[in-house]
Amino acid sequence: MAKKEFRAESKRLLEMMINSIYTQKEIFLRELISNSSDAIDKIYYKALTDDNLVFNKDDYYIKLAVDKENRTLTISDTGIGMTKEELENNLGIIANSGSFAFKNENESKDGHNIIGQFGVGFYSAFMVADDVTVISRALGSSEAYQWHSAGADGYTIEACEKDNVGTEITLKIKQNTEDENYEEYLEEYRLRSIIKKYSDFIRYPIKMDIQSSRPKEGSEDEFENFVEEQTVNSMVPIWRKNKSELTDEDYENFYMEKRYGFDKPISHIHIKADGAIVYNAILFIPEKTPFDYYTKEYEKGLELYSNGVLIMDKCSDLLPDYFSFVKGMVDSEDLSLNISREMLQHDRQLKMIAKNIQSKIKSQLQTLLKDDRDKYEKFYESFGRQLKFGVYNDYGMNKEVLQDLLLFTSSQEKKLVTLDEYVSRMPEDQKYIYYAAGESVERLEKLPQTEMVADKGYEILYLTDDIDEFAIKVIMNYKEKEFKSVSSGDLGIEADANDEAAKADESENKDLFEYMSSFLGGKVKKVKASKRLKSHPVCLSSEGEVSIEMEKVLNAMPS
Ligand code: ADP
Ligand code: MG
Repeated sequence: MAKKEFRAESKRLLEMMINSIYTQKEIFLRELISNSSDAIDKIYYKALTDDNLVFNKDDYYIKLAVDKENRTLTISDTGIGMTKEELENNLGIIANSGSFAFKNENESKDGHNIIGQFGVGFYSAFMVADDVTVISRALGSSEAYQWHSAGADGYTIEACEKDNVGTEITLKIKQNTEDENYEEYLEEYRLRSIIKKYSDFIRYPIKMDIQSSRPKEGSEDEFENFVEEQTVNSMVPIWRKNKSELTDEDYENFYMEKRYGFDKPISHIHIKADGAIVYNAILFIPEKTPFDYYTKEYEKGLELYSNGVLIMDKCSDLLPDYFSFVKGMVDSEDLSLNISREMLQHDRQLKMIAKNIQSKIKSQLQTLLKDDRDKYEKFYESFGRQLKFGVYNDYGMNKEVLQDLLLFTSSQEKKLVTLDEYVSRMPEDQKYIYYAAGESVERLEKLPQTEMVADKGYEILYLTDDIDEFAIKVIMNYKEKEFKSVSSGDLGIEADANDEAAKADESENKDLFEYMSSFLGGKVKKVKASKRLKSHPVCLSSEGEVSIEMEKVLNAMPS
């Protein structure tokens, strides 16, 4: 039987595609600029092997021009251009990518920087324009052609004039509708901010005629308007620069420019990974907790770039929850993107990057803890709680990563100590890591139970954050030392003789204890004698797994 080809109603297909793959209309500019950048790259790669072709950097740029009266936005480039045939194939066949073919043909050369691959980005122009004209002249040709389409109805191609090699795309911007503002794409400030957001690190200049005003010459209070061509994008991203060229201030400025936070970061990490997976990243550890940090509204994530083009604002898969305070960006050539380039296809590469990043953050924090204790304690004040949540939340799966980053107030000088510091100065006869949980250090110090432990010269960890004891319970033991609450029944200190003596006291005072117990109603389980107390007549203790303090937290939780 003869095989038939699929046919598609291209009109419908185009409409469907345009309106379903992109979540934001502003993306069209990213797509068109990316195409222009690819077109310039192609000349660059050709020049590498063609002696007759010289790549003079100054000749290559992308330019945006707005004509408000005629409602047009024009994006032109001095790239490789398209022949009549290429216009036909690349802009006339949906999902045909000349750039993808170029990459395949030139695989031996380093064609990595080329962005295009799916052959659909161009059509995103129809999200904001009802009419698109492309005028192009290909490298090595003296002829130019004009492609024109008013969207779904198809396109025309005819010969035209163009002075230089390159492509010029003119969009007739749609009229505003009740729920959609299209005219903003004719506003200079809006275009600028879209470029800054998505295309700031395109390697060629993106120029715009910017309206400014200046004081009139010879006059104090008169101003005149003038138009000036400016390059809008920064071009070289800071993360591609050498670390040795960059100062702390450069990183701080980047943090501010990117509005990662309004504080000054405590520390930054600049990663240039060149191994199994290639990526660059700049990460920041903020100083202050964002106002919504410990709420559901807070969204973790890093910016994700592919080849210098922003793909995602907040890629949450790059950060584990316990490091959700980290800000910054990742740029990688190795990502497989989905068709809208808004999401990732496979997450294998992403997982590798995430794992790598996680260990870099950990070691950075460890270094800070070791080399700059004051800074670390500042950091801990803001985000220590999150680390403890991290230990608790994953049932201890991450305790290896996190336990060495935890600090608790110690009974010794009331300073913050790590578990390692605690254990390393334990006297030989001390069996447990002792802790006391309660509202404040002042209260804990007055607790009758702490007296006996402190009397032995043992250090006690004062747990004053409600998450503390939960985290400790999950860690269970540190360097083979178990944690022990000072309010637990058996402290591992009392001599057997003491227990015997207590038992004797108990039987002697049986009636009294029974009376006390019934007097307190159901409030206590049992009243018994103890030899632990020194200057206090009485104390509360618990026998099970759940301490009195934990019970309080659990009872306060909404059920
Ligand atoms: P992609 O960029 O993923 O290939 P597009 O739909 O954005 O898909 O573009 C389709 C093709 O049209 C590109 O691969 C390229 O060959 C060609 N093209 C688009 N814009 C330009 C341009 N400004 N200069 C030269 N060629 C272009
Ligand atoms: Mg494209």
